[in-house]
Formats: sequence, structure tokens, C-alpha cells
Amino acid sequence: MRYHSTRGHPSTPGFSDILLGGLAPDGGLYLPEHYPRVSDQELSSWRRLPYAALAAELLKKFASDIPAADIEALTAKTYTAQIYCNGRRDEDPSQITPLRNLEQSEGRQLLLQSLSNGPTLAFKDMAMQLLGNLFEYTLQRQSGELNIFGATSGDTGSAAEYAMRGKQGIRVFMLSPHQKMSAFQSAQMFSLQDPNIFNIAIEGVFDDCQDMVKAVSNDLVFKEQQKIGTVNSINWARVVAQVIYYFRGYLAATSNNQQQVSFTVPSGNFGNICAGHIARMMGLPIKKLIVATNENDVLHEFFQTGIYRVRKSAETLHTSSPSMDISKASNFERFIFDLLDGDSARVAALFRKVETHGGFDLSGRSGSDGDEFAKVGDFGFDSGKSTHADRLSTIRDVDARYQLTIDTHTADGVKVAREHWEPQVPMIVLETALPAKFNETIREALGRDAERPAGFEHIESLPQRFDVMAPDVAAIKRYIALHTGL
Ligand SMILES: *Cc1c(COP(=O)(O)O)cnc(C)c1O
Repeated sequence: MRYHSTRGHPSTPGFSDILLGGLAPDGGLYLPEHYPRVSDQELSSWRRLPYAALAAELLKKFASDIPAADIEALTAKTYTAQIYCNGRRDEDPSQITPLRNLEQSEGRQLLLQSLSNGPTLAFKDMAMQLLGNLFEYTLQRQSGELNIFGATSGDTGSAAEYAMRGKQGIRVFMLSPHQKMSAFQSAQMFSLQDPNIFNIAIEGVFDDCQDMVKAVSNDLVFKEQQKIGTVNSINWARVVAQVIYYFRGYLAATSNNQQQVSFTVPSGNFGNICAGHIARMMGLPIKKLIVATNENDVLHEFFQTGIYRVRKSAETLHTSSPSMDISKASNFERFIFDLLDGDSARVAALFRKVETHGGFDLSGRSGSDGDEFAKVGDFGFDSGKSTHADRLSTIRDVDARYQLTIDTHTADGVKVAREHWEPQVPMIVLETALPAKFNETIREALGRDAERPAGFEHIESLPQRFDVMAPDVAAIKRYIALHTGL
């Protein structure tokens, strides 16, 4: 299996070559040259597989340069009931991503797939934990080292740290805005005592942190010398790891391969739902993929009008589903490449236009950049949007009807799923976080605190380890070099 850039760069690296990197040299994103197809027979034989074995079968199709036995060992180490044990008390951790039947009425079925039982209580663990093991394995083969440098406003940074803690050959330097994260989020990250994890609280806001990551990434000499890498959401292995739970959800919701299901996905950077699109391209019988956004509705706007209009970061609203507060969906280019039938010259032109003109228009109106919006339905896509008031009422409604507390992002998903569910096609909503992470809104909706999974009761009172620094690029570079010794 070789990979190519959405913008047409002639190189075709393998899975291990792109594992530690980010963008392709031409600024595009990597995709496989062909999506591997899953046969009916294969899908049937996967029905009985535990999560780790299913993950291995899928990964083998994408990572043909890693020996099959090694892939099996890696997924077995990653997807264990011990690691995915933070679920609700009535869930079976050995299922890894248990499916919960919320409602069945008039032939319609609404299900919730739990993806937030990993160490940081958000779905990003599903991919990041595999990434940690893949990185460690690949670095050992090359006797290499990797220093991950990133910025976080919460979820991604903690998922990365919990995935990389204690890993051979890997250090994590994570910037976060000083005193701007929730007490729970800071405690999750800062209570880590592993010597390969460096938390740096920046006296500034999230954008200051991100600007510093960009400044360091643009210094190619420093990057090379310090072996700097990232774990951002465009990483191809992260997308692959997310393909797995669509298969798992489908197999758990159906009894034969003639049945179809639909998924609703709380979306921000389009990484999670892009994995659903890939699963569908591989032949998984998915009828619809519903993009759910919050007030930051860049994606909803595209899927209703064909116009992609990114927002300036100052226009991005701070909402109560903060992990979906994005102005530009970093994985969207992968879908547009498929929508344009692999025309990389046009993809390159459209995403250059995003930089110069803030977006593009595929609506087919006169003066637009194309008419491919008409084909969006053929790919199963549709969308919906939710607001703070919708989140509160959905959290209350789900609590009253099903005696279940859901988090704010998942609430956006449930709200939108209800607008799209249809008879005979089970609708699976992907749960993207546990409510304990977003307790302020749970309290606003329900007048009480969200339940904390075992082990998290007193997280805020654990000893914390972090350094506070000014937003000074030169100082950050000195800090990194001091700790890597490179
Ligand atoms: C990251 C995240 C999302 C958005 O996922 P994308 O892959 O960026 O679309 C949704 N909900 C939660 C809780 C998240 O952490």
C-alpha cells in the first residue's frame, strides 16, 4: 500500500514513512492510492472478532510495510480492557467501544457508541493510544527519537500525553494557555509525573501557543536537529485508527451484511467523520454520514450549500462544546479529493484559494469553482447544527428518557441524529467524550454534577508538575534543547 498527496506530489511513500510526518511536501494530505475493499466474506468473518483482532485486520490493509505478527502484537497491546476501563459502570470494558441501545420506536433505532472509555475520557484516545505504540515500535526499528511539540486547549494534548507517557525514544512538549483550561483538564495533564512529558503553561491564550508551534515548525534547522514531530489531527495513522470503530459499530448493530446503518458524528476538524467516509469507501454498508456541528458551522454550511467558507480565528465562537470550535477543518481536503474524483490539480487550486480568498464554492452556481456539491449525497453525507440551548435541552432529554448523562459534544450529535434517523436504518451516534470533562454545562443543564469515573474523584488535588513560561519562541527553543540534550 502506497500513499500519495491530495495535491499531486509525485512521491508515493509507504505507511511507516508517513507515520511520523505531517503534511506531504506540497502541503497536501496523504491518502492511500486506492482504498482497500472489504469483501462480504471478510466482513462476515470479522463479526466474531474482538476489537484488537478487528483492528489488526484493518491495519494490515493499510500498513503493508509492517509485519502482520507485529501489527497483531501492537493492537493487542493497545486495545485492552485495562486501558479502556473508565466507562460507565454498566458497560463491559472488554467491548472497548460498547454500543448502547437508546431507543427503538416505529422501526427506528437510535444507538450510542461509547468511544470515551480511554484514559482521558475522550474519543481521541482511541487513535492516540495506537499512535503511541506505533511510534515507539517504528522508532525502535530505526533506533530513532522523536520530540513531539504541540499546543492544546484541552483534549488533544492530554490524549497525546497519556498515549506517549513512558514510551521509549519519545518526549512530549505540550504548550497550553496558563490558567485557561478547566481545572479537570489541567489536572489531567499536569498530574503526569513521567519524565518524558513536559507541560509548559504559557502566559497567554491558546492562539499564542499555536503561534509558537508554527514558529518552531518553520525553523527547519531546529526541527531537524531536535527531531521535532507532531501528533495533529491530519496524521494518517490517526484516521486509520478511527476507521476501526465504524466497522465495530456496524458489526455490533447488525446481524448480516445486507443491513445498513447510519452514523452521526460530532465534528470539528473532520477527522472522525473522514474515517467514516473511508470505511464507507472500503465497502462498509453505511447509508448516511451525518456531520453534526455546533454554532461554529463551517462544515454544516458546506454540506447544505456547497460553499466552504473558513472563519477567521477571531470569528470562532467559544461554545460549550469547545472541542468542535474550529474555523477551518484540517481533514476536509481528504474528502474534497474524493469528491473531485482525485483531481489533485483542482484540489491544490481550491485549497490555495482557501488561503487567499478564505474558501471555495462547489455549488455549481455561475462563477463557482465547480458543481460537485450535487454529488455530496452519493457519498452519504448530510449535516445538522446545534446551539447551546439545544445542548442543554438534549442533555436534559437524554437524562430523562434514558437515565444517561451525555457530554456536550455528544449532545450535539444526538440532537442532529434525531433530525435524520429513518426507519429500518439504525442510527449510531458517536459519543466523543464523557460528561465529567464538561461538568460546568452538565450542572447548568441538570442542576447536579456529572458522575466521575473511578480513579478521577480527586484528580484536582494530585501533585502537579508544569513550567510557566512567557510566549517567547527563543526561550521555548532553549527549553526544548536543554531537555532533549540534542
Ligand atoms: C476532537 C473532538 C471532536 C471533533 O472531532 P474531529 O475529528 O476534529 O472532527 C468532537 N468531540 C470531542 C469531545 C473532541 O475531543
